[in-house]
Amino acid sequence: MKIKSWPALSFRGKVITAIIVLQVAMIAIFVSIQTYHERLMVRDYIKDVNIQFSRNLAHVFSVVIRLQDFALLERCVAIATAGEDITYVIVESADSRRLAARFKRGQDLRVAAVDREADRPLSSNLIREVEKADSWLSLFSPITYEVAVPMRARGQEIGTVRVGVTTRRMDQKVWAGALRGLLMAGFALGVVGLFALFVDRRFKRIFRELIGVTGRMAAGDLSQRVNINTGDELEELGQTFNRMGDSLASSQQLLQEWARDLEAKVKERTQDLEEEKQKLDGIVSGIGAGLVLLNKDLEVLWGNRIATEWFGPLGQLQGRKCFSALWEERDFCQDCASTKAILSGNVEQCEKAIPGRNGHPRFFQITTSPIKNSQGEIIQIVELIQDITEKKQLEAQLLQAGKMVAMGELASGIAHEINNPLAVIGAHAERMSYLFSNAQSSPEKIKEKFPSYLEAIVRHTYRCKEIIEKLLNFARHKDVDLQPTDINMVLEDSIALVSHRASMENKKIIKNLDPALPLIQSDSNGLEQVFVNLLANAMDAIDGTGEIHITSRLEMGLIKVEIADTGKGIPSENMDRIFQPFFTTKPPGKGTGLGLSICARILSRLDGQITVESNPGEGTRFCIALPIEASPATKIRESHLWKNP
Ligand code: ADP
Repeated sequence: MKIKSWPALSFRGKVITAIIVLQVAMIAIFVSIQTYHERLMVRDYIKDVNIQFSRNLAHVFSVVIRLQDFALLERCVAIATAGEDITYVIVESADSRRLAARFKRGQDLRVAAVDREADRPLSSNLIREVEKADSWLSLFSPITYEVAVPMRARGQEIGTVRVGVTTRRMDQKVWAGALRGLLMAGFALGVVGLFALFVDRRFKRIFRELIGVTGRMAAGDLSQRVNINTGDELEELGQTFNRMGDSLASSQQLLQEWARDLEAKVKERTQDLEEEKQKLDGIVSGIGAGLVLLNKDLEVLWGNRIATEWFGPLGQLQGRKCFSALWEERDFCQDCASTKAILSGNVEQCEKAIPGRNGHPRFFQITTSPIKNSQGEIIQIVELIQDITEKKQLEAQLLQAGKMVAMGELASGIAHEINNPLAVIGAHAERMSYLFSNAQSSPEKIKEKFPSYLEAIVRHTYRCKEIIEKLLNFARHKDVDLQPTDINMVLEDSIALVSHRASMENKKIIKNLDPALPLIQSDSNGLEQVFVNLLANAMDAIDGTGEIHITSRLEMGLIKVEIADTGKGIPSENMDRIFQPFFTTKPPGKGTGLGLSICARILSRLDGQITVESNPGEGTRFCIALPIEASPATKIRESHLWKNP
């Protein structure tokens, strides 16, 4: 419900109106109460005076009645009734006969009516109301009292005098007094109102000035001041206001200085950021690698220039799943590094090969890093995509180069291996030739010796063939060729290749091979290269005489091969570096630093692992673990996995 507001009055107008109404009401109430009490007092006074008057009349009338002069009585009654407040006088005998009476303005009728209603007083003073209003108006209308007093002569009651007296005249005086009071109060109210108006106009001017100045200050002009010279609290208020203006102006100045300062700093920072951005843009474009930003659903959000050169314009990549946009796959890539990064929250890596334009595969290395928000939740993934095709080719070349180096190192041993059978073959051939050309040789003797000589020649010829085949296998660059492989056999072959050098250098090779090893799907050529390399390193590490222990065993689903030597060992500071390509401690011309890195690379293709432990001065132990259940060696593990764990 809407509450009706007062007519359009200002707040000040409403307050003034309320004050006036309240004051008028209070004055009216006070005057009414005062008037009422005055009237009561006046009435009591009238009653008292009239009783006395009536007694005097009774005394006079009793004398006149004793004289039996009724004409005089009439005259006396007339004189008594002449009083302004007296409305009638009645003289009655003891038996209620009217001896004389006089009434003003129809009072006789009222007296008659009252007489009919009540017993007439005879023996005592009686005061009764003869005329009054019946309703609440009695409070304001005049009353007529009747006082009845007995007349006595010689101790006997001879009649009654009844005198009617009205309060009209005294009431009028009281009302006149009340009116005077009201007029005076009204006058006082008027004077106070005029004074209030004067004060109000004065305050209004000051407040208008204050409001105007405040408005102009709020609009930004803080130079505004008020000018109040009243010499009182208002002037003090004005001064306080002006002080507030001063302090606002200085605060504003300070704020403006801060704002200028801040603006300069923001400008400077923006410029710094712009420079940083340009630098970053330069780095991002110049890193020579593709950078791609993905959301958590692996949809492409952004890619740098290289990425767009490799995979297509950004507009075609954005919003598409990365496997489709970048790699043209229908589903998530196997071994997806982005998925792994989302699951682990860490940096992950994987490699990806796609067919190249020239028919050769193109290899990419993908490093993914999760981007987290302030709550640590992963919101995006950044992919660093590097083209490692050349690196792969170089590695392949290094592998081949390593083989050639190893082959060179082995050449003398192999030459000796071939020398022996050739010497045997030569000796037997010479023997046969001698027997054949010697006249003393009987056909029986030739027949007896030839088969054994020929058998030796054939056997040693095959031995030469076998050695040359191994040499060719070792040197040939081949892809991983998985065949059922007997690890002990590969070890034997490898030992055979270095045994001549070992015996020449007084290094004892001690074998402890588990004959129950199962055949595994593996690459015997690659493994042979690994074992020969490790054996050669072991022999290099032993100064003078020493031992090389070769062990094979089955352990927890893995075939483990250990090659331990009693050489000089590896200093702890080199342990992390020995698998790095080209790291060597050997003198120039002796070592290439490729052996162990090639070993690690070969083993990674075969799903195997190599670890090393060494005590400088005591020896070194290399341990190779190969899975029995060989998986297709397609995964290329990173060389850092093959360092000493
Ligand atoms: P190279 O033999 O050509 O130096 P490798 O990669 O085979 O290259 O070996 C790297 C280095 O590791 C060697 O130079 C040597 O310092 C150390 N090393 C390898 N095997 C042994 C071993 N059995 N004992 C001591 N040091 C070794």
